[in-house]
Amino acid sequence: MQSLTCKKGDGTARRPTIKQETNTRQLIPTEMQSTIQKIQTIQTPIGLGMMPLQCFYCRRFGDHHICSGDLEGIIACEDHTSEALRDCQAFLHQTNMVLLRDAIEHPGLKPFFDALPATFATVRSSGAVDEGWGIPEHALSCNGRISKNPAGDWCIPIEKKAESIGRGTSLRTFLTAGVAGITEELVAAAIAALDAGIYREAAEIQASIVATGVRPGTPTPL
Ligand SMILES: [Zn+2]
Repeated sequence: MQSLTCKKGDGTARRPTIKQETNTRQLIPTEMQSTIQKIQTIQTPIGLGMMPLQCFYCRRFGDHHICSGDLEGIIACEDHTSEALRDCQAFLHQTNMVLLRDAIEHPGLKPFFDALPATFATVRSSGAVDEGWGIPEHALSCNGRISKNPAGDWCIPIEKKAESIGRGTSLRTFLTAGVAGITEELVAAAIAALDAGIYREAAEIQASIVATGVRPGTPTPL
């Protein structure tokens, strides 16, 4: 299993990396590398387990794992990381998902997360208000996602370590549970940002490429 390291970034140059052991690009003379044409296509994130270190776009060696979820994303070479980030973000936009690590840095959502205590109460399915919940550390440091449930509510992953349970909870539940510091304004701003789509630009760029008639590629598992 490959060891993925996911880094926080400003949304423009996020490059989860793995240890590079070989680089076949080094076999290509420099003067030829400049003439290799970028392939204008789009890709869809897939499960990355057992996938070869091959760029989805140009099929050359690639060791950049651009993630859209845990062990899910697009593998890219050095030249195609921006396309991979664009297509991962477009996919997340189309499927109503947002990476938690992107959400906490977004101006519309950051105030909500900054105000959220390390542990807080939530409302259990029984209706009881229950203390001792938090945002899972792995969800923040890697690829946890906010997603829209069938009722149309944006839900954040939370966990209760003491009971080894996790779930998604709607933003409005933080108000219902009376979490200290969480106000109607903070929740409304967070929902508005999510509804507007923090990855909308990537989705629109991808749509413009699709409009030219380019067909998605089909990477092959090992
Ligand atoms: Zn490439």
